[in-house]
Amino acid sequence: MDLEKGLAMESTMMHYPLTLVHLLERAGRYFSKVEIVSRRADRSIHRETYGDFYRRARALAEGLTRAGLKRGDRVATLMWNHYAHLEAYFGAPVAGGVLHSLNLRLHIDDITYIANHAEDRFLIVDDVLLPLVEQVKPHTHFERIFVVPISGGAVPGGYENYEELLASARGDFRYPEIDEYEPAGMCYTSGTTGRPRGVVYSHRSTVLHAYNAALPGAMSFRQGQAMLPVVPMFHANAWGMPYAATLAGAKHVYPGPHLDAENLLDLIEREEVTLSAGVPTVWLAILQALEREPKRWKLPDGLELIVGGSAAPESLIRGFDRHRVKVVQAWGMTETSPLASIARLDREMAALPEDERYAIRAKQGRPLPFVEARVMVEDQEVPADGKTMGELQVRGPYVTASYYNHPVGADKFTADGWLRTGDVVMMDADGFIKITDRTKDLIKSGGEWISSVDLENAIMGHPAVAEAAVIAIPNPKWDERPLAVVVLKPGARATGEEINKFLADKFAKWWLPDAYEFIAQIPRTSTGKFLKSKLREQFAERNRAS
Ligand code: AMP
Repeated sequence: MDLEKGLAMESTMMHYPLTLVHLLERAGRYFSKVEIVSRRADRSIHRETYGDFYRRARALAEGLTRAGLKRGDRVATLMWNHYAHLEAYFGAPVAGGVLHSLNLRLHIDDITYIANHAEDRFLIVDDVLLPLVEQVKPHTHFERIFVVPISGGAVPGGYENYEELLASARGDFRYPEIDEYEPAGMCYTSGTTGRPRGVVYSHRSTVLHAYNAALPGAMSFRQGQAMLPVVPMFHANAWGMPYAATLAGAKHVYPGPHLDAENLLDLIEREEVTLSAGVPTVWLAILQALEREPKRWKLPDGLELIVGGSAAPESLIRGFDRHRVKVVQAWGMTETSPLASIARLDREMAALPEDERYAIRAKQGRPLPFVEARVMVEDQEVPADGKTMGELQVRGPYVTASYYNHPVGADKFTADGWLRTGDVVMMDADGFIKITDRTKDLIKSGGEWISSVDLENAIMGHPAVAEAAVIAIPNPKWDERPLAVVVLKPGARATGEEINKFLADKFAKWWLPDAYEFIAQIPRTSTGKFLKSKLREQFAERNRAS
């Protein structure tokens, strides 16, 4: 910025880049005694301090640089949530590299496609995931593969040991001068249609996102707190939690590969976790475990769970309140870094009757600072009246403007530069967003829309129901009709008729599902959401015939 641009005056403020180097330096300097706790593959606990993390992340940066990492080179990870993944989260970007977290739950063909499309040069991998690497290796071009011995065993021949890479560091690493707009990380979206698409985060967007996430009105990160991301570090940077926690100097707690209710509750209790986050399916399982044995766990006071990735049913929010655990719903996408809105009550809302408060908490919330949101039907913005539906579009400094080497059409970005989220929402006068569906999941019956999300949430409020997904099935008369696929709680019984009776006072009659299917488990995507495309495949033909 200068006077040649016609400005009468310049600010006197310094030009200071927003980069992860600052976060790492701050962590090492001010919080060196704060702990980072991880569960290893054999369930034992690994402990290090921010001081260790600082030295090791810098050692990794030095090791990668010596291994030939150049600016912008991709360093892939294939790892669970733990200390070494955190080291890579910082070590690769502060060396000028790009941390590319690969989703270990994807099919081998997708992992191969993504690694090749991103042109990953290096890979850091958990020893327990080597069988996956063996399958991917012949079709990819990793120049060096570093293995983290999280199960404590020896690293097999043909691979390099991550610990040896770190041990070989001399400790004289100097950061390159990084511009805040340079890439720091990348993540591919796991869409259900088409090829996965890469989103590239910059240092600036990552720092701004961490800053936003740390706000008291957002996830609220602070010193003295302990946070446990259940959401994987390969899914949208674990919702930015590792960066936000480091910014704030909070204790990190990582579950490693052990994501079952028992292990998570044990870790939450033992490490006095005050903030955790993940998709609803994780918390549904945990709530069931708590209801089964309410006396067994002593959960820390003030525990908050950030729930997002798919809609948090109101029954989940109410259920955890019974155990004095606060569920806070958030919304976001890989494309939005991801945290873009969160449902926290204003002072005035806190005084509303209980049912109204729950209804607000079951919404996806208000956009965070610098995230602009609008609801559109074609190219018209619809009123924020809490009832007119349209597509949610967003823009902001940590929202992607394109995909990496993947041209897309007007269905993804508007001509005036907004991201089309594909989510169908209503916005109320307070700016709270309520998602009714993904565009492709809406049910169109007799020309009118039915929200599968609303039905699912209400069905999951039935005492016998553990999980429910509602899909559209073709219908010759109505075009589409809702089918509910339900998993009952162990030992519980309910019929479709009984559930419809339970729903009767909540919905218009024509919204109620025509049919129910009871199954043992709802198929999930690689990020733990209900995989509705699989259910549609499974049930469409059968119901068309009936
Ligand atoms: P992903 O990029 O895999 O994180 O998926 C992003 C999508 O997840 C969004 O576009 C929404 O459809 C869905 N999603 C995220 N958070 C929520 C939420 N709180 N409620 C409903 N859907 C959500």
